[in-house]
Amino acid sequence: MKPQGITILGATGSIGVSTLDVVARNPARYRVVALTANRDIDGLLRQCLAHKPRYAVMADTDAAEQLAQRLRDQAADIEVLAGAEGLQRVASLEEVDCVMAAIVGAAGLMPVLEAARSGKRILLANKEALVMSGALFMQQVHEGGAVLLPVDSEHNAIFQCMPPSFVPGAGTADGVSRILLTASGGPFRLTPLEQLAGITPEQACAHPNWDMGRKISVDSATMMNKGLEVIEACWLFSTDASQVEVVIHPQSVVHSMVQYRDGSVLAQLGNPDMRTPIAHCLAWPERIEAGVEPLDIVGVGRLDFEAPDLVRFPCLRLAQEAWRAGGTASAVLNAANEIAVEAFLDGHLAFTGIPGVIEATLSHIGVEEAATLEVILDADQRAREYAGSQVAGAFHREVRA
Ligand code: NAD
Ligand code: MG
Repeated sequence: MKPQGITILGATGSIGVSTLDVVARNPARYRVVALTANRDIDGLLRQCLAHKPRYAVMADTDAAEQLAQRLRDQAADIEVLAGAEGLQRVASLEEVDCVMAAIVGAAGLMPVLEAARSGKRILLANKEALVMSGALFMQQVHEGGAVLLPVDSEHNAIFQCMPPSFVPGAGTADGVSRILLTASGGPFRLTPLEQLAGITPEQACAHPNWDMGRKISVDSATMMNKGLEVIEACWLFSTDASQVEVVIHPQSVVHSMVQYRDGSVLAQLGNPDMRTPIAHCLAWPERIEAGVEPLDIVGVGRLDFEAPDLVRFPCLRLAQEAWRAGGTASAVLNAANEIAVEAFLDGHLAFTGIPGVIEATLSHIGVEEAATLEVILDADQRAREYAGSQVAGAFHREVRA
C-alpha cells in the first residue's frame, strides 16, 4: 500500500505532537508532507529533523526566515513557507491525502476550509473552525468531496457509536434518539464558588485528566469547551442542541454515548489519551497501533455521572443560547471567548470575568445570517473589538477597586 501523505496543521501543539507520535509508530502507512506552527522555531526545527517533511510552514514571517536559515545550516532539504498562504498551500497540495487540523482557535479556519475545498480527509481537532462557520464548512466539505472525521475525543466516541454507514455531516443517523456528551467538569467542579474569582492561569491549565494546550484547558475549566462541543456535535451529527445532553463524568473513561430509539445506549471507553481518537481518524475504517495503555476497567472501579451545574458554568448556557440564536452568533461567542481567555491567561481578566465578557458581546453584536465567509469574519472581528473593550473596562474596574 502506498503511504498516505499527511499535513499536520499545528504540529508543535499538544494534538500535533500526539499525531506525530502515532504516525511514527506506523511508518509504512504515513508519510509526513508538511508540518506547520505559529512561531515556535525550535519546536518545528526539531520535528523537521526527526520527520523530514517536504514543507515546513511558520505562520509568522520572521520566524519562517529564521527556520529556513537554521534548516540550511543543518543541510536539510525542506522548503519553508510563511503566513496564511503557506498554510493554505500545504492544506491543498496534490500529494497530501490527509490533513490534521490542529491549529488552535479561529486562526485555523482558512486552511481547514482550503482542505475541504480540495477534497482531503480532514482530521478535525480545531473545533473553533466548525463553531464559527458550520454551515459554510459543511457546504465546502460536500462540494469538495472531502471526508470529515472528528478527532475531539467525545465526537470521535460518538462517531464510533454511530451505525457503520454513518458519514459525519451527511444527515441524521437512523434510529438515534439522543447524544450523551460527557464532560469531566474540569478542575473546578467542586471548588467553592467564592474561590473561583481568585483562580490563576496555572490552576486553570492543570486539568485533572487531560494534558492539553492552554486555551482548551481554560475552556475546559469554564466548560466553554463543552459548549463549543455541543455546537460541534450539532454540525457533525446533523442534530439540534436540545438532542445533545451534557453529562458530567469525572473519570473521563466513557468518552461519550449514543442513545437509540430501541433503548440501547452505546458508549466508547478508553484511557484519556488523544492518541486513540487520532489513530482512529488516521486509519478509519481500519485500526492501528496508537501507543495507548490498555484500559484497566477493574482499576477504574467506578464510573460516575451527574448533571452539569449551569450556575457554576454559565459558559455552557451561553453556548447553548448562541446555537439557538443561529447565524453568526456562534462565531461571536467563539471570538469573544478567545479574547476573554487570552486576557485571563495574560492576567488582565479574572476567571469569573470570562462569561461576563462573552455575554455582553453576544448581546451587543446583532445576529446575521452566516451566509458568506465575509459576513462571518466581519462578525468575528467586531466581536473581538467589543470583547476587548469589555476586558479593558473590567480591568480598570478591578484596578480601581
Ligand atoms: P496547542 O496550543 O497545544 O497547539 C496549537 C498549535 O497551533 C501549535 O502548533 C501552534 O503553533 C499553532 N498555532 C497557534 N496559533 C496559531 C496561528 N495564529 N497561526 C497558525 N498556527 C497557530 O493546542 P492543542 O491543545 O493542541 O489544541 C489544538 C486544537 O485541538 C484546538 O482547537 C483544541 O480545541 C482542539 N482539541 C485539543 C485537544 C487536546 O487534548 N489538546 C482535544 C480536543 C480538541
Ligand atoms: Mg473534547
